[in-house]
Amino acid sequence: MASGSWHFVLAEAFDHAALERLRSVGEVTLLDHPDEPSLKDAVRDCDALLVRTYTKVTRAVLEGAARLRVIGRGGVGLENIDLDAARERGVAVVYTPAAATDAVAELTIGLMLTLLRQIIAGDAAVRQGGFQKARRTTCTRELSQLTLGVIGLGRIGKAVARRCRDGFGMRVLYNDIVAPGWIDFAATPVEKHDLYKASDVVSLHVPLTDQTRYLINAASLVEFKPHAVLINTSRGAVVDSEALAHALSSRVIAGAALDVFDPEPLPPDHVLMNAPNTVFSPHVGARTEGGLARMNDVVEDVIRVLEGETPHFPADGS
Ligand code: NAD
Repeated sequence: MASGSWHFVLAEAFDHAALERLRSVGEVTLLDHPDEPSLKDAVRDCDALLVRTYTKVTRAVLEGAARLRVIGRGGVGLENIDLDAARERGVAVVYTPAAATDAVAELTIGLMLTLLRQIIAGDAAVRQGGFQKARRTTCTRELSQLTLGVIGLGRIGKAVARRCRDGFGMRVLYNDIVAPGWIDFAATPVEKHDLYKASDVVSLHVPLTDQTRYLINAASLVEFKPHAVLINTSRGAVVDSEALAHALSSRVIAGAALDVFDPEPLPPDHVLMNAPNTVFSPHVGARTEGGLARMNDVVEDVIRVLEGETPHFPADGS
């Protein structure tokens, strides 16, 4: 099919420039509610499907998509796409692996400092007449005195570890199922159990897979130091939220800062909502100007696939 007659279905928001780029080479359909029935309907006669975090591209969706040649995921995690089903049907999957690295690393460190320096409680004290008491009683820890344990030393894990080691003087431990090769900062590989036992801050940077689902659970949390805090900017389901809420309430660990949740969004009556020493952000790790702009770049790889060129960022890494 010639350029100009392609049909793109966008199941989530992409910016104006990305939309214009797609419109310059084809027709664009925007979906309001990308649930399975409407997605199945929409992809029936499209050449490319573009998604972000929440659209679930299941085997059932792909089965009816006879013309589909490429799925573009603006972002990093690929757990919302059935990659096996796509491969079997010869549908290419492209994404933007490095788009969010710096943005998520910065939020991770922001959450770490907010939690450890009790910034939210301090803000409330200033506003609610508790300035003097808070000033008298507050005494927190400096990062240079603490050990960071990074689980998943990939792009984001490395960016966090490098900043924490070289910027803040933290000791860094890490665990990964793949050896990271040469790294340009000091860090020690350890088993997960040793990381839990030795870290003051445990930061999660793994993808959500069968192996990492509920990696942090009641059994792993009891191995943490009582003064340790958990930071999760990876995926909500890497942590068993109920076990975490229980560990916080019973002082098994000292605090948690979360950008991602399971379920997401967290319902108002979820037990984590009332757990002590928590800092939450609404899954905004990647949402910086640069992060969002780089995620929109996925349109270029989608067009490359349709034009028969090799994409820069195929999901299978080929
Ligand atoms: P990456 O692929 O570069 O790194 C992931 C690392 O985790 C790899 O080194 C991998 O070997 C390791 N890993 C996988 N399974 C593991 C296991 N069982 N134990 C230990 N290590 C394991 O990915 P990245 O770019 O660093 O992103 C990491 C994750 O961050 C993404 O998969 C995504 O879920 C999440 N993310 C969140 C946001 C946000 O807005 N909060 C934005 C972007 C990415």
